[in-house]
Amino acid sequence: MALPIPTSLSPSKVTAFKDCALAFRLSNIDRLPEPPSPYAAKGTLVHRALELLMWEEDPPNRTRDSAVRKLTAAASDVLDGDEYRDLALSDVQRADFVEDAVGLIDNYFRLEDPNDVRVLGTELRMSAQVGSLRLSGIIDRLELDGDDLVVTDYKTGRAPSANFEQSKLGGVHFYAFLCQAVLGRRPDRVQLLHLREPLAISATPSEQSVLALQRQTGALWTAVVSACNREDFRPKPGRLCSYCSYRQFCPAVGGSLDLLQARTDEPILNT
Ligand code: SF4
Repeated sequence: MALPIPTSLSPSKVTAFKDCALAFRLSNIDRLPEPPSPYAAKGTLVHRALELLMWEEDPPNRTRDSAVRKLTAAASDVLDGDEYRDLALSDVQRADFVEDAVGLIDNYFRLEDPNDVRVLGTELRMSAQVGSLRLSGIIDRLELDGDDLVVTDYKTGRAPSANFEQSKLGGVHFYAFLCQAVLGRRPDRVQLLHLREPLAISATPSEQSVLALQRQTGALWTAVVSACNREDFRPKPGRLCSYCSYRQFCPAVGGSLDLLQARTDEPILNT
């Protein structure tokens, strides 16, 4: 029996399908709930602090201390909110969590001076139709640098190795496509600010790179539809397996998809 076809693709879904088709299926089609992740919570917190810094402070008051105050104030909203409450961090774990997040803020200030940023928008949800496919994504920050339109994406996980850098830049061109489709203007630059290292990776989108993105995403979409029709999402064992929430369902690591049947009446995660 064919599986239901997802309604849209985002940069994270594209990466998820390429990383492991079975994990993509279990997350996006079967919608199995994943336990809250402290890494995702930290990303949410740092994004929130930097967003508040941009909107609540004018230059020259976008200082490191101001950003840390915003992060500390936002910590309880994030950690005690619906999405991450189940992390149930102890006081010591919570203090370590915030301290590590402050380290990411410190690294952010090594990459740029926020007082120089002419912000146009943050956390911008954009989507555009390409044939039967809806592409959507959230742009962390859109700004002007002189006359240049710039998209900035904050990353709080590890930066990709040189081997993977090119594939992760696929997200860059995805954002460029969305800007062009929604705003009618292709960004002059897209930059990824990796706060863990810290490291800035930037790319200049072109007409060709946006067209290539459309072509590659279209091919990936065809593969997703075909996998749904054949109910054939293959596991791809690799470095992500140790963090995977779906090991009990994965034949590649000793689990079984039959367990999925037993879960059909259980609540599923709405994403
Ligand atoms: S355990 Fe590994 S191969 Fe299996 S679903 Fe998860 S990521 Fe894919």
